[in-house]
Amino acid sequence: MGRPRVVIAGLGDTGLLVALGLHPRFDVVGITPKPALVSGQELGTRLAAPDAWRRHYLTPFRRYRGLDGMPIVHGLTTGVDTAGQRVHVRAIDGTERELPYDALVIASGVTNGFWRNATLEDLMTVEDRIERDADQIARARRVAVVGGGATGVSVASNLKERHPAVDVHLFFSEAEPLPGYHPKVRRAIVARLLDQGVALHPHHRAVVPAGFAGDRLTVEAVEWQSGQPPFRADVAFWAVGRQRPNTDFLPAGMLDAQGYVKVDAYLRVPGFANVFAVGDVAASDPNRSSARNMGYATVIHNVRSVLAEKQRRLRRYTASRYRWGSVLGVQRDGLRVFSPRGGSVRIGPWWVERVLFPWIVERMLYKGLRD
Ligand SMILES: Cc1cc2nc3c(=O)[nH]c(=O)nc-3n(C[C@H](O)[C@H](O)[C@H](O)COP(=O)(O)OP(=O)(O)OC[C@H]3O[C@@H](n4cnc5c(N)ncnc54)[C@H](O)[C@@H]3O)c2cc1C
Repeated sequence: MGRPRVVIAGLGDTGLLVALGLHPRFDVVGITPKPALVSGQELGTRLAAPDAWRRHYLTPFRRYRGLDGMPIVHGLTTGVDTAGQRVHVRAIDGTERELPYDALVIASGVTNGFWRNATLEDLMTVEDRIERDADQIARARRVAVVGGGATGVSVASNLKERHPAVDVHLFFSEAEPLPGYHPKVRRAIVARLLDQGVALHPHHRAVVPAGFAGDRLTVEAVEWQSGQPPFRADVAFWAVGRQRPNTDFLPAGMLDAQGYVKVDAYLRVPGFANVFAVGDVAASDPNRSSARNMGYATVIHNVRSVLAEKQRRLRRYTASRYRWGSVLGVQRDGLRVFSPRGGSVRIGPWWVERVLFPWIVERMLYKGLRD
């Protein structure tokens, strides 16, 4: 008997960490439409300072020492046969294949605007897109950011920070941005945006053009369901929460009404003893926050448990009530990380560049990166 096979569908922020925790103890195979980690994090810096973003958030898989020897299929999972314990894969060269599994981890994330998708692409295409988007936004004199979630807030703040002469307007439908965050976090970020000179427009609910999923920058005037006059900018960036889970390859019985993967307290798909889901695709809690609250560690533990020869206890996943983490990304004065209780710590720039990224992220979390 060889080692049990674990197939991971999606090597984004969470799938990658699960792979690093299970390889080489198990025969792990990762399936990914991108040949690199293209992190879902920090869109604001990705648009405003693409070179700095790439250094930490775009990393070819060959650079991870912990993945050495692990097969990675550059392709898309197109189906799952749960009875036969096989996934169907279409590789980037168009060939189709089947991969048997003893345990399956679904970490396929969501499609969101133009920056997160399930498109099969090579590294050059990914890089070109990042450059083109940043370029278009950098050439604008007046920018409308539509949507007050973490993405919209981060884009507005980072654009103003890097391009102070640009007139940045942030529109959101509630009285304050950042729903789902602790009230203290919401207040702190509003204060920061005002201090930077971002124009805030509460109670603005945009008319989203028919068939438009926020998947490109627009140049037409933005119109409002909430009755205000149309707003014209050189470019409008949309982050109105129209994200779609990447789950069309899964049986309907695994999905909730919105199409996210149902999971139990152990991040296991109900009815399937050896199938787990984690990250933005998993309906783990109202904020679907298992990408953040160590959900990957829960899945690593639980996959090891179900594949162990002797029965082992599964670990429960614990979500926090409020979203937490960094909202604006790394700034000139360092990285501010908010806690679920609304407090925050600021990690100074020296610590971010000399300790956080090289030691904690690259060595401890990612188990070593080569140049
Ligand atoms: C360590 C860590 C720290 C974080 N810190 C913060 C923070 O400070 N602030 C914050 O706001 N958020 C933070 N986050 C969360 C982050 O914003 C997102 O929630 C996270 O990027 C989601 O990861 P994911 O793996 O679910 O999705 P993704 O990173 O989007 O990965 C999904 C991958 O699956 C691929 N895929 C899609 N369909 C298929 C298919 N059919 N077959 C195979 N692959 C497919 C996608 O193309 C993509 O590459 C953090 C997450 C982690 C892991």
